[in-house]
Amino acid sequence: MKLPRLSAFLLLLLLLSVVASTAHDFDFFYFVQQWPGSYCDTRQSCCYPSTGKPASDFGIHGLWPNYNDGSYPSNCDPDWPYDASEMGDLMGMMQTNWPTLACPSGDGSSFWSHEWRKHGTCSESLLDQRSYFQAALGLKKQVDLLKVLQDAGIRPDGGFYSLRGIAGAIREAIGYTPGIQCNVDESGNRQLYQIYLCVDTWGKELIECPVFPRSKCSSRVEFPPF
Ligand code: 5GP
Ligand code: 5GP
Repeated sequence: MKLPRLSAFLLLLLLLSVVASTAHDFDFFYFVQQWPGSYCDTRQSCCYPSTGKPASDFGIHGLWPNYNDGSYPSNCDPDWPYDASEMGDLMGMMQTNWPTLACPSGDGSSFWSHEWRKHGTCSESLLDQRSYFQAALGLKKQVDLLKVLQDAGIRPDGGFYSLRGIAGAIREAIGYTPGIQCNVDESGNRQLYQIYLCVDTWGKELIECPVFPRSKCSSRVEFPPF
């Protein structure tokens, strides 16, 4: 009598662990925002979207599933292509908050389609296409990075600011340490390019980053205007 009960218990444990391991196939999201001034202020330059010059604000680059060891899945499902018709009423918010700056000019669809294919399909067990983009827009609303920096006296005025000051201002305001990436302007100065925040697998709550992206910043970085 004891043995069947033990086997049933083991079977239950096995089932539970299978359910837990397939519940999601990544550990957290990076929510990555780019400073348009720094995207444009490079040798490569940029093109404004066909819908016009974006606001002088951080724009979304992506919501990227990641593993705790720093590696990440990509292009997880070629059978689930980006479907523009699902964006419907999100289009206005997308153009404002997730503008494309790559050349040639476009309305954003090819940027969003790239991000869905490369990253979004890796969280499709939890978020369908619409929920994925909605989650990113919701996160953008949750944290106003430009206001946080400006409130700390860090402005996009072409000046140089300490990297520790930038990270500290964000940590102070939102309670979590950001990852910061820089790129290089035409004169070779390192400038504030992207800010990474970490988010739970539902794309809802900010969390402490399990691992940070590689940075390439100097101790003082330029914050160019846009
Ligand atoms: P880069 O090599 O310029 O830092 O990144 C190129 C692209 O690779 C990014 O735009 C993004 O799509 C992907 N990528 C780079 N680093 C990470 C990372 O740490 N996590 C994830 N999920 N994607 C990344
Ligand atoms: P990732 O680096 O995320 O793998 O690739 C970004 C892709 O989206 C590149 O092919 C890039 O040309 C395109 N793209 C379009 N608009 C933008 C933009 O505003 N910022 C960035 N980083 N990439 C963009």
